[in-house]
Amino acid sequence: MSSGAYDSTNIFAKILRGEIPCHRVYEDDDTLAFMDVMPQSPGHLLVIPKEASRNLLDADPAVLSRLMPVVQKLARAAKDAFEADGITVTQFNEAAAGQTVFHLHVHIIPRYEGQAPKPHSGQMEDNEVLAAQAEKIIGELGN
Ligand code: 5GP
Repeated sequence: MSSGAYDSTNIFAKILRGEIPCHRVYEDDDTLAFMDVMPQSPGHLLVIPKEASRNLLDADPAVLSRLMPVVQKLARAAKDAFEADGITVTQFNEAAAGQTVFHLHVHIIPRYEGQAPKPHSGQMEDNEVLAAQAEKIIGELGN
């Protein structure tokens, strides 16, 4: 069953068009990565393709093949920058599966032994905190 068309008024499409700000950590011709405003753990970031799709289900496989190497690069950078024990990578497809923003995105969430992450789409983090966390990851990418 189809789950609807891509809606270009979604918040990540607005970020891609520069209509609303984000704490950017990485960008190339096909991909943008930025801090999640409601992080489940310090360093929680989102990786999105620039090409429009709602989620994994309607995405062009060629887009996915360019996205995943960036997910890997940023997962490694976030793990090192935040001295995490592990990284959870999540990706939700349609509302029934927990998706709230309907532009394909992959979550990268630093994790620590014995610590549960905060709730998904929970509490907004301060801008200054997110800016500092973005700088940490950018610094790690530069290494
Ligand atoms: P989903 O449930 O669709 O996988 O998650 C969407 C994510 O986007 C959530 O983790 C939420 O915190 C995050 N988010 C929602 N609105 C904004 C926003 O305006 N800017 C950023 N950077 N993240 C957002």
